[in-house]
Amino acid sequence: MIGRDHASLAALVTLGVGRMAGVGPSELLAITGCVAGASLLPDLDETGSSVARMAEPLSGIVAWLTGKLAGGHRQATHSLLAAGAAGLAVFLAGRVPLGDGAPLSVVPLAITYAITARALLPVGIRPGHALAVAIGASGAWAVWRYSGIAWCWWAVTAGVALHLVGDMITSRGVPLMWPSRWQLSLPVLGRTGGWQEHLVGLVLIAGVVALAWGPVGSIAFMHDIRI
Ligand SMILES: [Zn+2]
Repeated sequence: MIGRDHASLAALVTLGVGRMAGVGPSELLAITGCVAGASLLPDLDETGSSVARMAEPLSGIVAWLTGKLAGGHRQATHSLLAAGAAGLAVFLAGRVPLGDGAPLSVVPLAITYAITARALLPVGIRPGHALAVAIGASGAWAVWRYSGIAWCWWAVTAGVALHLVGDMITSRGVPLMWPSRWQLSLPVLGRTGGWQEHLVGLVLIAGVVALAWGPVGSIAFMHDIRI
């Protein structure tokens, strides 16, 4: 799957499950932003991916390094082990104080928000990545202050896991049980970026807009903002 479709799939599932579970609008949007951003992280193993090109040259260097360590594209970062490790890292970061009473996990949360913000900002905005980092950092800080971020570790796990689902339904599949080389593939979407995916991508975006409209509207109503 391409980056935009990964983020849309992750956002759609989170909004759908969250609304069914009765999660409040502010918390649901805060969690959705985190899951959507985390859903792009596994593609940091590929220098040409959208997440690797978001904050050049830094993201490109991180992607090059990750690709080397992971053994190439769709290897270690596309496994259950990676989903568990990412969640565990954020969980442990949540136990480390950063300052002002905030836990260290506010940093990975800010990174996921920055990724989501960059994906939403029009490509032509320059320097888009600086703006995305500013949005990510201030967003994470505000969410921590007003509602807490205890959910951050499982939101990151869910984001990575949903990325695996998205790639699993393309022809190439994913090495779910890495380091085993067995590839799991249920190729209903055909090749990555093919016409089937573009079609499904449009449906995903429409679904995200439909499901996000309610929470955004009720927050605006709570704060008496006219949209
Ligand atoms: Zn991928």
